[in-house]
Amino acid sequence: MNLTRYREDAEEFVSALDREYYLHFSGQQDEFDIEPIYDRYAELLTTDTVQALREAGNRELLEFAVHGLVGRATKAEEAELARREAALELELDGEVMPFRQAAVVQSNEPDPDRRAAIEEARLELTARELNPLLREMLERSHSLARELGWRSMREMCEELSGIDLGRLEGQTNGFLEASEAHYEALLTPRLEVELGFGFERLRRSDFTYFFRARTLDAAYSEEKLLTSFRETMAGLGVEGGGVRLDVEQRPKKTPRAFCAPVRVPDEVYLVIARHGGRDDYEALLHEAGHAQHFAHMSAGLPMEHRYLGDNSITESFAFLFQHLTQNPAWLRARLDVADPEAIEAQARAAKLVFLRRYAAKLAYELELHGAPPSLDPLREVYARRLGDALHVKWPSESWLSDVDPFFYAASYIRAWALETHVRRLLHERFGELWFEEPEAGAFLKSLWAEGQSVRGDELLHELTGAELDFGAMLDEFRVPSS
Ligand SMILES: [Zn+2]
Repeated sequence: MNLTRYREDAEEFVSALDREYYLHFSGQQDEFDIEPIYDRYAELLTTDTVQALREAGNRELLEFAVHGLVGRATKAEEAELARREAALELELDGEVMPFRQAAVVQSNEPDPDRRAAIEEARLELTARELNPLLREMLERSHSLARELGWRSMREMCEELSGIDLGRLEGQTNGFLEASEAHYEALLTPRLEVELGFGFERLRRSDFTYFFRARTLDAAYSEEKLLTSFRETMAGLGVEGGGVRLDVEQRPKKTPRAFCAPVRVPDEVYLVIARHGGRDDYEALLHEAGHAQHFAHMSAGLPMEHRYLGDNSITESFAFLFQHLTQNPAWLRARLDVADPEAIEAQARAAKLVFLRRYAAKLAYELELHGAPPSLDPLREVYARRLGDALHVKWPSESWLSDVDPFFYAASYIRAWALETHVRRLLHERFGELWFEEPEAGAFLKSLWAEGQSVRGDELLHELTGAELDFGAMLDEFRVPSS
């Protein structure tokens, strides 16, 4: 196998997909023509190629080919799923709303009973219209993993990522146990402020409204969004370069912010659509973390270390910048917030919910992808694990839609841990105003230059000698690690 040739083609393929994604979702092009791109590069993603890459011993390229092969085998269902989702509507008290819009409406709905009604209608449509297709895709991907020679999807993902998911589960279970007794006490004051009640009445349908935290919007003015962003990048000395900021309002631009690394490191799009409030700040800075990471990768790295590899690294830089929006020193310096305590408390509460939810999701997904004798009982496993972690009755209908492909949940979990260590290091070396220090920027640039050539745990080990574990995160919630 000619690896040089394979890398060149793989880079062109990924780049073409990202460009199509960027043009469509930034609202500049109606079509989203990825099928012809897959056809043009079909050779990259065949069982023979997978076999050749396995023999060549390049783990990242092998992972890329396997994920691509599974993606290709399920792309018809995927397209059908997107078509159905886009066409579905739900009706509530005579009001009709598009299915995809309903989650946004729910997160802005002050009436808890109406939030519950919207969620119920969404779940009912999910179970009836989407789950049969999702199940087909899941079963297809499981049987492909076996055809390619692994015993299960879990075994396949562990070998291809080089990440011991069982060991990670041991750590996240430890986190669930250690934070269990503190969870309700930490959330209750913020639930009462945002919702007007605590756990006695809390339902799952309240969570997105809680995260939305409308009482805190005042601190995040629309005028300061771009200035605070530019000042932060200038303070670190990381402005310019290959990052292209797309803030233009276009009618068909997607409401979600995203980063499209079309050509790494020279052409990286940072796309946002503004809605107002805290969400804009979080989204902009999260995607800025990705964009800076890609734009500062060394051009000489092989493609697998620029576009592929362990995504807990790129997610950790995204979380690092996103975290600024709740950092008291940053809030004072950039947004003139006099008393950032409520913001900090809300952020801590929301993060604990996320960490516990992802810990439960990982345990569930390990069972789901671990070749269970039958998939049916997993529906109740999902509801039980999530319900136990979050102390609410958790509906089971989302057992198939709430699954990230190829254990992406593990990347987020590891990224949260890695970010905590990197943030602490920045604080120790450059002070609480590290985001105003060009030397902190230079330090970050030296990390970004390496791309994703090592795994997140290896990066941390090089930096501090520490193990990538969850002890550091328990400290954040002032929970003693046992
Ligand atoms: Zn991200």
